[in-house]
Amino acid sequence: MSDLLFPAEPGQRAIARELYGLARDLPLISPHGHVDPAVLADDEPFPDPARLIIVPDHYLTRMLLSQGIPPARLGVPTRDGEPAETDGRAIWRLFVDHWHLFRGTPSRLWLERTFETVFGVTTRLTPKTADEVYDALAAKLATPDFRPRALFERFNIEVLATTESPLDDLAAHAKLAADGWGGRVITTFRPDDVVDMEFEGWADRVARLGEVAGEDTGTYRGYLAALRSRRAAFVAAGATSSDHGHPTARTARLTPAEAASLFARGLRGEADAADAETFRAHMLIEFARMSIEDGLVMQLHPGAVRNHNRWLHATHGRDVGGDIPQATEYLHALTPLLDAYGNDPRLRLVVYTLDEYTFTRELAPIAGGYAAVYLGAPWWFLDSPEVLRRFREAVTESAGFYNTAGFVDDTRAFCSIPVRHDVARRVDAGYLARLVAEHRLPFDEAAETIVDLAYRLPKRVFRLEGDPA
Ligand SMILES: [Zn+2]
Repeated sequence: MSDLLFPAEPGQRAIARELYGLARDLPLISPHGHVDPAVLADDEPFPDPARLIIVPDHYLTRMLLSQGIPPARLGVPTRDGEPAETDGRAIWRLFVDHWHLFRGTPSRLWLERTFETVFGVTTRLTPKTADEVYDALAAKLATPDFRPRALFERFNIEVLATTESPLDDLAAHAKLAADGWGGRVITTFRPDDVVDMEFEGWADRVARLGEVAGEDTGTYRGYLAALRSRRAAFVAAGATSSDHGHPTARTARLTPAEAASLFARGLRGEADAADAETFRAHMLIEFARMSIEDGLVMQLHPGAVRNHNRWLHATHGRDVGGDIPQATEYLHALTPLLDAYGNDPRLRLVVYTLDEYTFTRELAPIAGGYAAVYLGAPWWFLDSPEVLRRFREAVTESAGFYNTAGFVDDTRAFCSIPVRHDVARRVDAGYLARLVAEHRLPFDEAAETIVDLAYRLPKRVFRLEGDPA
């Protein structure tokens, strides 16, 4: 067994190995992520290694951008018709020429582990071996064992959640359900594009929401009815959670009349930034109320300044690495929601952060004091070995282990899923090993805890225990 990420001290390392051994082969629970469900519904072979691994991974393309390499040269499609590189091997060579930029980063760890454990390719990646590694990966991708469904089974994924807008017709999920394959792929209700008035084309999207749901979204009442109806459709397609990606964690309680007039102002195109923030804040409480009715676990992902790199947004669009975290306040922001539903165990609110300092100061005490709140795993810029470790150190003393929600891989990169879960299991084993070595926790309780963190807890928190059928 590799000692990757285990404590360097030999006593703790030995305990960590034993604990990790208990978690290593447990099925993967992936309650939040961004894999395209069509990948599994269609089960087509993946494209070449560059288009599978580099082009869609904004962690990789933004690092090269930070050194002056335009994303178009790495194959990232442009909005303005400027040509982007399409030759997989050329993209790969350019990327590998800059591989040294990733020393010490989680991207390097994930990629190396993916090559080794998923593809069985152990050649060390250097500019000299770029072609050799590319050819080895491409040869594997051409075999039936590397089709998406075969990998899903090999990865031992018990459940994989994807994320869709209420405007999505869920056709990929319907196809998956209809063809009897049996892998459990569920959707997640993510309404940001019909809630955030600052989203490009918001009013048109609200109109489309009305068409999809068969409601008149020209009125606030019809808008709420349409959202309820789409949630019911998502629940029918297997969803157990919703997800809300807001700039801040702010929540607010408006009267129905106030909300309706704000909504109307937005549709007329007269809402300003403050109106948009108030409406998002109000809708979080509406969604909490709907969650109590329909049982969807509510995930809140605040703190990203979207499209901060305006040039990148203008040339390549959203979700290509132009977002930056900002300082995020939770306690006062969440107070209206917590006043309304924080002590109601029917609500389950999983809160994430991009602002690590809030773990100790606000989030662990909130999760450790309100029945409805769970702490989401370190996310995005923070889903690295260093922060996963600091997360346990920061939150356990206030929130314990059982107010945390388990690891989420939050990834679009399908082939990296097992590696990411493995990293989290290794880090948790290391943390628990320290508690055992310091005589703070008996080994048998640490052994139970590692299995809970890796498997039982995410299943329970995200209400995934129901019949998979
Ligand atoms: Zn996400």
